[in-house]
Amino acid sequence: MAVLLWEHGVVTSTWVEPSNTATALLLLGRGSDPATERGVECPGDLPAPSDPDLVARATAAKAALGDRVFVLGHHYQRDEVIQFADVTGDSFKLAREAAARPQAEFIVFCGVHFMAESADILTSDAQQVVLPDLAAGCSMADMAALPQVENAWDVLTGSGLAERTVPVTYMNSSADIKGFVGRNGGVVCTSSNARRALEWAYQQGEKVLFLPDQHLGRNTAVLEMGFSLDDCVLYDPHKPHGGLTAEQLREAKMILWRGHCSVHGRFTLDSVTDVRERVPGVNVLVHPECRHEVVRAADLVGSTEYIIRTIEAAPAGSAWAVGTELNLVRRLALAHPDKRIVFLDRAVCYCSTMNRIDLPHLVWALEELVASRVVNRITVDADTAHHARVALDQMLALPGA
Ligand code: SF4
Repeated sequence: MAVLLWEHGVVTSTWVEPSNTATALLLLGRGSDPATERGVECPGDLPAPSDPDLVARATAAKAALGDRVFVLGHHYQRDEVIQFADVTGDSFKLAREAAARPQAEFIVFCGVHFMAESADILTSDAQQVVLPDLAAGCSMADMAALPQVENAWDVLTGSGLAERTVPVTYMNSSADIKGFVGRNGGVVCTSSNARRALEWAYQQGEKVLFLPDQHLGRNTAVLEMGFSLDDCVLYDPHKPHGGLTAEQLREAKMILWRGHCSVHGRFTLDSVTDVRERVPGVNVLVHPECRHEVVRAADLVGSTEYIIRTIEAAPAGSAWAVGTELNLVRRLALAHPDKRIVFLDRAVCYCSTMNRIDLPHLVWALEELVASRVVNRITVDADTAHHARVALDQMLALPGA
């Protein structure tokens, strides 16, 4: 798809997005795919979703566990689950909150698999991290598997470029990938500090291999750091040599992994045009995981925490179209009835894997803990955790972190 990019009504350039690579997606609640971080069937004997006592059961189990349990709720989580969260936030904030509660033996992470892995890496050995449904994975994290990334690194090595390339991975990646990045002198970044992480990386080398979200990488490089679209190339792990020539790799400053968020990737330029027509004076506020042309057409861009702060600080009567996960946008709208807050797209857009964590799974996980059984524990092996920690510590050491 060719897209005209404009700023303030002036066409500035054209960007051509390649067609999507097929990615195996499992239907919600059906099937299993143990080779990925999602799609593993839950082994539990779950309460029925229609059980009218679910809220009372979760409340009682949580009370019985007291300070021994700490429940983390990601911003994109369902209301029925968020009501039991001791703290809400984005993945990195939640992992740090867990590490700051050493008295909590059990960390119940209402999020997705890579987030629970990060919590396990950052918490002490005495703390056990539980993901209420093992099928809650992240399709973006699944788009960069370790063998694929090692293969790409071999391609760069064979081209004589690996020693000049610094790997940078978004927080939304598996522990394996963070470990790879730590082993190879790179850094983890969040959507809040991607620019600082990239600036650091370009002080260490000439090129960056950015994993796994092409959009965050492209948006940061082009819109925040002044790179051109031609400085970026897209590495497709499903094609030989990433689908790139040796010369393209040599010329590129930014090698973007071909991954994306299936939620934020749904917003299009038409969504922005449409909402500007529907809602007079609307401010369009989007997450940097959105496509480049969407971010270019928006008024403001930032992480989930930035989106929340921006809405909180907005004057009464202002109108906002928010391009991020629907659970968060709905809660923002309910919390700010004095402002008009609409979802950027007309279609419903939940993170289906995050939404696998529902009240029956939470009740089941908590009641099993009360019965001294730890279910769905997420652990990261010591070697991977060590190197992932190196990359995470490098992020924490970034200027201004
Ligand atoms: S919203 Fe996107 S990046 Fe976040 S967990 Fe869901 S699929 Fe992954």
